[in-house]
Amino acid sequence: MNSLPIYDVIIVGAGASGLLCALECAHRGKKVLVLEKDPQPGRKILVSGNGRCNITNRFVSAADYHGPQELLEQTLKAFSFEACKNYFEQLGIPLREEENGRFFPATGKSTSVLEPLKLALQEAGAQLLTGQEAARIKTGNGFTVQTKQGGCYKSKRLVLACGSCAYPQLSGTQSGYQLAKSLGHSIVTPTQTLCALTLKEKAVSRLQGIRVQAALTARRQEQIFAQTQGEVLFTNYGVSGPAALNISGEVTRQLAKGPVQLDINFFADMKDFPAVMTARKNTFGRRRAKDFFAGLLHENIANLLIDFAGIRKNIPVREWTPNTWQNVLHTLQKWTFNVTAARPWQEAMAASGGVNTSEINYNTFESLKCPGLFITGELLDVDGRSGGFNLHFAWSSGFTAARKLSEV
Ligand SMILES: Cc1cc2nc3c(=O)[nH]c(=O)nc-3n(C[C@H](O)[C@H](O)[C@H](O)COP(=O)(O)OP(=O)(O)OC[C@H]3O[C@@H](n4cnc5c(N)ncnc54)[C@H](O)[C@@H]3O)c2cc1C
Repeated sequence: MNSLPIYDVIIVGAGASGLLCALECAHRGKKVLVLEKDPQPGRKILVSGNGRCNITNRFVSAADYHGPQELLEQTLKAFSFEACKNYFEQLGIPLREEENGRFFPATGKSTSVLEPLKLALQEAGAQLLTGQEAARIKTGNGFTVQTKQGGCYKSKRLVLACGSCAYPQLSGTQSGYQLAKSLGHSIVTPTQTLCALTLKEKAVSRLQGIRVQAALTARRQEQIFAQTQGEVLFTNYGVSGPAALNISGEVTRQLAKGPVQLDINFFADMKDFPAVMTARKNTFGRRRAKDFFAGLLHENIANLLIDFAGIRKNIPVREWTPNTWQNVLHTLQKWTFNVTAARPWQEAMAASGGVNTSEINYNTFESLKCPGLFITGELLDVDGRSGGFNLHFAWSSGFTAARKLSEV
C-alpha cells in the first residue's frame, strides 16, 4: 500500500464535470487520476442534445436552475457563458449558436466535444482509467479509493463527479450518492426531471404525435407552482416536448406530496382570444363544429374537444347554447389534465435532488463534511431547465473546484 503513487487529485467519474475538472487541474500542474466505471468516458456528453451536445446557453443565469441561487450566481460568475465559450474554442472546438441562445459544436456532433477533451487531457498529462468503479473510499492521510475491479489508488484530494441516477442505461448510477453518504453527506432524494409526464386521461393518446405551441400551468387545486410556454408534444401516455420537460422537475417534486393538475392553453399567444373566436363565429357560424375548427386546431385536437365538451356534431356552431360556447372558449385556454407520474428514470435526462448543497462550500465545491473532498456536477442537488444549462453547471462546477484544488 505504501508503494502506491500518490496523486494530487483523484476524480471519480469521467463525465462532463469530471473531465473538465481533471483537465483544469492538470493544466495547473497537478498530478491527476480520473477513474471511470464504464468502458468509455463521457457517455452522456455523447447523447446530449440528441447527439449534438448543447454545451451551454448564452442566457444562462441562476434563475434557470433549481438550487441555491447564491451558489449558482457565484458559479456562473466564476465560469460564465463567455468563459465557457472561450474554453471550448481554445480546445479547438468552433461553436454555433442556435435559437434561444443554445450553443453546439459547429460540426453538429457531440464527438467534437468529447474527443478534443480527451486529447487535451492526455496532452496535459492526466491519467484516465476506464472500467474502474470506485466502490469504497477511505479517509485519513488523504484518500484511498478501492475499486470494484480490485484497484487501489491514493490521493491528497478527491473529487466526486459521479453524476446522477438518471438514464441508468447510459452511466446513470446511485454510486455517487452512496460514496458521498459514506463520507458524511446527506442526500436529497432524487426525482426525475427533464422527462415526459403521464396523464390520467387516456383519451390523450388520440393526440399522439401532435406538436403544438402552448402554455402549461402546473398546480395543485388553485395553487400554481410552475408555468411555462413552448412546444408540447403529445404522446400515447401524456405530454413531452421542451415545455413539458421544463416543468417536469417541479411537477415530479410536487407529485410526491399529492395530486397535480396540468392546464394547457392552446392560444396563449393569441391576443384577445374570445374576440377572435366571436369574429370567427360571425363568419363561419353556419359550419358544423368539425369544419368550424378547420384551420384553427389540429383535427385530432378538435375531435377530442368536440367529445370532451359534449358538442352536438350535426348542428351549426351558431346554434350552440351560450354554455357550450363558453365551455369551448374556456377549454381551449385552460384544458385541465391530471398528472399521475413522471416517466421512469430510463427516460429522465437529469435528476433533481442529490448531495445536499448546504454541505458544500459555495465558492469552491469543497465538502463542509470532509475536508479535501469536492463534489461537482449533477451529483449535487442542482438541476437546470433544458437548453444547455445542465452541462453548463457540470462544466462550471468542475472548473470552480479545479481552481481551488490547484491552490492547495
Ligand atoms: C439523453 C440526455 C440528453 C441530455 N442532453 C443535454 C443537453 O443537450 N444539454 C445539457 O446541458 N444537458 C443535457 N443532458 C444532461 C447532461 O448530460 C448532464 O447534466 C451532465 O452530463 C452531468 O454531468 P456530470 O459530469 O455531473 O455527470 P455524468 O456526465 O453523468 O458523468 C458521471 C460519470 O461518472 C461515472 N461514475 C459514476 N459513479 C462512478 C464510480 N463509482 N466510479 C467511477 N465512475 C463513476 C459515470 O459512469 C459517468 O461517466 C442530457 C442528459 C441525457 C441523459
